[in-house]
Amino acid sequence: MSEQAITAKNVDLSNCDRELVQYVGAIQPHGAMLVVNEQTYAILQASRNIENITGLALDQVIGAPIESVLGRGNANLLGRAPLQDGPVYVLRESFSETSTSVNVFAHRCGGVLLIELESVPEGRVPPTIDLYSKLRMGIARLQATPTLQAFFDMAVSQIRDFTDYDRVMAYKFHPDGSGHVIAEAKRDDLEPYLGLHYPATDIPAPARRLFGLSWLRHLPDTDYSPVPLVPEHNPLTGQPVDMSYSILRSVSVMYSEYLKNMGVKSTTVMPLMREGKLWGLISAMHHDAPKHLPYDVRMAAEFLAHMLSLLMSAKESVQTYEQRLRMSSVTDQLVNAFNREPDLHVAFGSRSSPVNVLAQVPAGGAAVVSHGKVTLCGSTPCASDVLALAAWLDQQKQPVFATDALSEHYPPAAQYKTTASGLLALHLAHRSPEYLLWFRPEQLQTVTWAGNPNKPVEIDETNGLLVLRPRNSFARWKESVLGRAEPWQPWEIEAVANLRRALFEALLGRAEEIERINRELIELNVELDSFAYAASHDLKEPLRGIHHLATFLKRENSTLLSEEAKKQLDMIMRLTRRMDDLIEALLHYSKTGRSELTIETVDLDRLLDEAIATCRHRIAETNTAVRRSDSLGTAACDSVQVREVFTNLIGNALKYNDKSTRWIEVGVEQARPKRYFVRDNGIGIEQRHLERIFLIFRRLHGRDEFGGGSGAGLTIARKTVERHGGRMWVISKPGEGSTFYFTLEPESDR
Ligand code: ADP
Repeated sequence: MSEQAITAKNVDLSNCDRELVQYVGAIQPHGAMLVVNEQTYAILQASRNIENITGLALDQVIGAPIESVLGRGNANLLGRAPLQDGPVYVLRESFSETSTSVNVFAHRCGGVLLIELESVPEGRVPPTIDLYSKLRMGIARLQATPTLQAFFDMAVSQIRDFTDYDRVMAYKFHPDGSGHVIAEAKRDDLEPYLGLHYPATDIPAPARRLFGLSWLRHLPDTDYSPVPLVPEHNPLTGQPVDMSYSILRSVSVMYSEYLKNMGVKSTTVMPLMREGKLWGLISAMHHDAPKHLPYDVRMAAEFLAHMLSLLMSAKESVQTYEQRLRMSSVTDQLVNAFNREPDLHVAFGSRSSPVNVLAQVPAGGAAVVSHGKVTLCGSTPCASDVLALAAWLDQQKQPVFATDALSEHYPPAAQYKTTASGLLALHLAHRSPEYLLWFRPEQLQTVTWAGNPNKPVEIDETNGLLVLRPRNSFARWKESVLGRAEPWQPWEIEAVANLRRALFEALLGRAEEIERINRELIELNVELDSFAYAASHDLKEPLRGIHHLATFLKRENSTLLSEEAKKQLDMIMRLTRRMDDLIEALLHYSKTGRSELTIETVDLDRLLDEAIATCRHRIAETNTAVRRSDSLGTAACDSVQVREVFTNLIGNALKYNDKSTRWIEVGVEQARPKRYFVRDNGIGIEQRHLERIFLIFRRLHGRDEFGGGSGAGLTIARKTVERHGGRMWVISKPGEGSTFYFTLEPESDR
């Protein structure tokens, strides 16, 4: 074993991680040890102090049969005792030469029998209290505690009652090996350690392993001198003896130094186990003087620690179960809110809503990111930082992302580590970055220092030895948790994953609903088209009749009719013509919806030539310059209908212009999909009318202004491009001109 002094230079306690504490080869002086050959019962090794306890000199003992120390009858007891599972109490023995009484414990380990003779504390009288009934009462009270915290508070105060130690603490390990004091019962005048955090190095890995092996480790006097075994190694194997389970085993020099530096004179440590793993410790400390706990008290304390482990698991499961229940009820409420209100910002982020996103998991703040907008709740980074974070998350492509050290993954987060060292993110949509985010502050911001926080860290270098104090530990712990938040518990991550699933189901339900409505709308549209077709078709007939009758009436009775009557007949004829135009437009419109599209590869430049040719008279009349920029290329479309679209847009561009020098421009923008456009320097359209002009029979001008029109042209044009999968829109500036755009295929996905 490396008996290394802890100096300021080598203070890294992880040295201890490499120390083989179980092969220490020495015991504490409040007892003696015999290492016995399992087959022959001959004594292989003995602790150097054997004579002080038994009165038999070392050389009398080594090599002798065990019965020479314990007597024949007692030695026989060893053969019958079940010695596989750690030390068992075998008997009590008194040695007259030294007037010492000992409790004898024995166990097997590594092919030898380890016999430990622990002296009974001087003046010890058998217990007068009924330990059993005291324990029973204690356990009943532990069971009745309402919370895990109350459970631990009660546990430490009971153990303090049993052991009469100055201070008893419950200590919980974190996944990274660090830990903190979760409950404490102490003498009133002592400084509280409750809430203190310790780095993983304070209880090094081998020590943690050994704590997990025995139910109780007792160190009656931290200032003891270790007693070595003689000879140092097992003479049969040449190896040191494995003392993992030994009661008297000498502790690591680092551990005893550490305790001494904390002002601890005596200590007892009991593990808290959960599902077979070391979960935490019960640590009892005595500050005044050494304290040797008698066997029966140790048994009671050990039994209690055992019960604590069992009850704690149950208590913790209940608490976790309750947390899960609470979170799942919040999930339900959030999903209901989402069903009522599809806008994530309103559903989850509103302060007025009964439950908002922050309620889902314990966090300092939360954010909703959707459609490039951010809604913040609680303590969070600013909106622009959250948006940048969402953009980064988008590249991670993880449905649920959890970290307790965000800046390790995403360095810009270091700037706001105080509010968001921990991030739990839920990605909702597949395409647009929609996120629900929860933030946890850096742990340092939440940990309370139980002592005087203004007192500087204590580092005493006395004789080159570093004096470790809890405050020093805290400083070390602080370093280890920079930029770290309280980790997300598995059930918290699970709750967020459940919320995600539930929201997806709700979205799916909504998509099905939209699809159903769409189908209905398509059917309705078809019906409307056939209705419009039938109606306009049927209306034309009587209208023609009225027109003929009016013409006939005027011609045949020209002498009989007054001038006034003739004017009225003219009016009837004008109106019927106008109505005929309108019906014709309606018929045209309904045909556009009903006719089959004949899709072929079309040379759009030729198509445009034809459309311009159709309008040539109007072009000449208005003296309009027609500019054609790039070639339009080819497109898969219905040539007849698309030609009509061009004719209509060019017609309008020629019509709605009052400038003295007029031009129109037809071209294409090379976007995806291609955007064809017809631009003019005409009268332009006010912003508020940009959508209205696409509605059927909506005109912005008097019937006869700008050459008149039915108001169906743009409706038909838009319907045509939409039937091709494209869309049509306009941008315009009143007085300066308009540009009508259209595409002939669907927008591709991002
Ligand atoms: P119309 O047969 O009246 O031209 P449209 O459906 O083609 O019907 O157009 C609807 C209305 O949109 C027109 O009455 C006009 O007010 C406006 N409009 C269409 N094209 C233009 C344009 N290039 N510049 C200004 N206004 C336009």
